[in-house]
Amino acid sequence: MAGLAAAILLARQGHAVTLHEAAGTAGGRCRSFVDSSLDCVIDNGNHLLLSGNRETMRYLETIGADDMLAGPASACFPFLDLRTGQRWLLRPNAGRLPWWILDSRRRVPGTVFADYLPGLRLALAGNNRTVTDCVGNGGVLFERFWEPLAVAALNTPAEFGAARLLRPVLGETFARGEAACRPRIARTGLSDTFVTPALGFLDRHGAVVRFNSRLRAIGRAHGRAERLEFGHETVMLEENDSVILAVPPAAATNLVPGLDAPEESQPIVNAHFRLPEPAGLPDELPFLGLIGGTAQWLFTRGTVASITISAANAHVDEPVERIARQTWRDVAAALDHDPDALPQYRVVKERRATFAQTPQNLKRPGTRSRLANLYLAGDWIDTGLPATIEGAVRSGVMAARALSTDHPPVQGNGHAGTGPA
Ligand SMILES: Cc1cc2nc3c(=O)[nH]c(=O)nc-3n(C[C@H](O)[C@H](O)[C@H](O)COP(=O)(O)OP(=O)(O)OC[C@H]3O[C@@H](n4cnc5c(N)ncnc54)[C@H](O)[C@@H]3O)c2cc1C
Repeated sequence: MAGLAAAILLARQGHAVTLHEAAGTAGGRCRSFVDSSLDCVIDNGNHLLLSGNRETMRYLETIGADDMLAGPASACFPFLDLRTGQRWLLRPNAGRLPWWILDSRRRVPGTVFADYLPGLRLALAGNNRTVTDCVGNGGVLFERFWEPLAVAALNTPAEFGAARLLRPVLGETFARGEAACRPRIARTGLSDTFVTPALGFLDRHGAVVRFNSRLRAIGRAHGRAERLEFGHETVMLEENDSVILAVPPAAATNLVPGLDAPEESQPIVNAHFRLPEPAGLPDELPFLGLIGGTAQWLFTRGTVASITISAANAHVDEPVERIARQTWRDVAAALDHDPDALPQYRVVKERRATFAQTPQNLKRPGTRSRLANLYLAGDWIDTGLPATIEGAVRSGVMAARALSTDHPPVQGNGHAGTGPA
């Protein structure tokens, strides 16, 4: 997403763009694929966005895919407590004053207004604070709001998650009222929404995309990147050429010695189940928050029900069948199916889904590198945001803007802004 976002902005500005991607398809951690055992297209993992993810919304508008997101007309988050069967809807109100926390029909059941006040501490949290340092680690609100929010946004439990990364999530969405926190998911799939239209845009703007093109080394001379070494070829960079390196942190530190980057990562596990009939959730919402089970979220798309386990350290090494059986129980309870009748399933383990978003692991570099024509992008760059689609897109836009400022497009000159995406 970071590489695509950068390439799109540069192509739009008139740069000549070549995009190198190590894999045979684009999308990275945000992609769809045909699954032979389910006999349909599934996503590598469920992705939830919010309408306040403004750079992502701009990206979708640019590539002509803003109608590819689905979600309710007003902000509404359905939850089910699997232990008690209690269901509720969290419904933030319009406008910046959050009076929904005064209204027992809109806020988390079992909570009172005063429970929300410690949340204000997040606004002032220092760099070393975790989410639980600010909001505590007990009580109904923690279990039903802070912990699910931290795990969803930071892919890290609240106990370890960096408070300062949760702050912008709240500031750019919940604190702006319901219009900025409407949940959004890809209507038909991640690739249909974020990737295929982007490749179409790049093609129409004359950009070249090379798949199976893994960058092995960056040759440097005189404080500049001078050549890009791929397994099959070496690209010599000309005077006006610049590079945006939009790879995950481990790949970036291999390519750029001495680069500071987050070292620890956190897994996410998804399980997809093929149902005999399209699954319907209450209120026609395509997702449901789960409390007290193994999975934290359930998503439905046609005949596929998918669960997400974020911060999945306790599960990622388990056999897939055990994960499927365990999480199917959550799905069966939510959708009223037989918990013993496990349908066809596919478990996808993303071991390095995001960097661990703890105060100790926030060595995030800026956009500019030590080389004059090398820029960095990716969800781990210091955007101030957590590792999300919005963070990745914003990092790509930041890198493209920096490149364009330093090296304005040269009309008719071959090979400008490049970079693995
Ligand atoms: C299962 C899962 C669930 C998620 N859920 C959400 C969610 O609900 N909401 C949300 O907003 N975000 C979510 N995320 C996070 C989001 O997907 C990522 O933050 C985002 O996709 C990262 O994009 P990126 O461009 O920074 O990195 P990547 O997607 O990792 O892209 C890097 C690209 O570089 C390529 N590459 C690597 N090395 C090289 C090389 N040497 N040469 C050439 N190419 C190379 C890779 O193949 C890849 O295509 C989730 C992630 C996962 C895995």
